[in-house]
Order: sequence, then C-alpha cells, then structure tokens
Amino acid sequence: MTNLETHDMVGYWIDVIGLNGWTITTEHIPIMSVVYEKSIPFRDRYFVGVEIDRELMSARIYHDRPLNGEYVVHELLHVKYPNWSEDQVNVETERLLKQNKDDYSFTRVSVEERQRERSDKYDYLIGDDDDIKPNQNKDE
Ligand SMILES: [Zn+2]
Repeated sequence: MTNLETHDMVGYWIDVIGLNGWTITTEHIPIMSVVYEKSIPFRDRYFVGVEIDRELMSARIYHDRPLNGEYVVHELLHVKYPNWSEDQVNVETERLLKQNKDDYSFTRVSVEERQRERSDKYDYLIGDDDDIKPNQNKDE
C-alpha cells in the first residue's frame, strides 16, 4: 500500500468512526525496535500501536508491518472509545469492516485516480471542514 493509499484509508475510517477534528498520524517503525518474549511465535511478532494525546486531539499509529484496514480501524476505535476492552474493540472492528466493505472498495478507486499526488511522507490532518490535508513537512 502506498503512502497515499494509507492516507486515504485512515481518512476514510476517521470519518466512519467519527473522529473528525482529530489529527491522526502513522509512523512505520523498524521491526527490530520491538523486543519480544521468546515464547511468542514468529508469525505473531509484530507491533501496531497507538499513542493518544486527548488534550491535543492527536494520535499516532506506530506499525512495523504494512497497515491494513483492520489495524487502522482497531487503533482508531481505541482512540474513540478509551474505556473499551480489547474484546469490544475486536468485535466492533470486525463489524465495521463488514458493514463498510462496499463503500471501502469504492474509496480505493478514487485512490488510484489520485496517485500522481503520491509522496514519500504524509500524515493526516483533519481540519474543521473535515478535509484531509497531507502534511509533508512534519518533522519526525
Ligand atoms: Zn487493541
């Protein structure tokens, strides 16, 4: 998935889940930066997590494998419902993915049409008008 596709996907789910006004960024972290227990099977050794600043209404999703809809929905639900258990988040993630399946594939089409805007670095800024504006100058 390209950066722009990720950008559009995150924007899409921000809208569906109702996190407009939030700034959601994603950051690809090196696989080796996470230390795992030896008992964890290799296939389960990956990290997707979210750091949330409620005061600033911003959150950053860290991931060491490519993001997909499931990861994004899961992390955004943690942002939206801080008191939900992991089980509640998982159930709602599955429900939302199923419910929005058709809508989401439509979204993917428009992504293809705008590939020329692709850039190496994006994050996700949601303004008052709910427009998603790529910010390529973020100092990370
Ligand atoms: Zn979780």
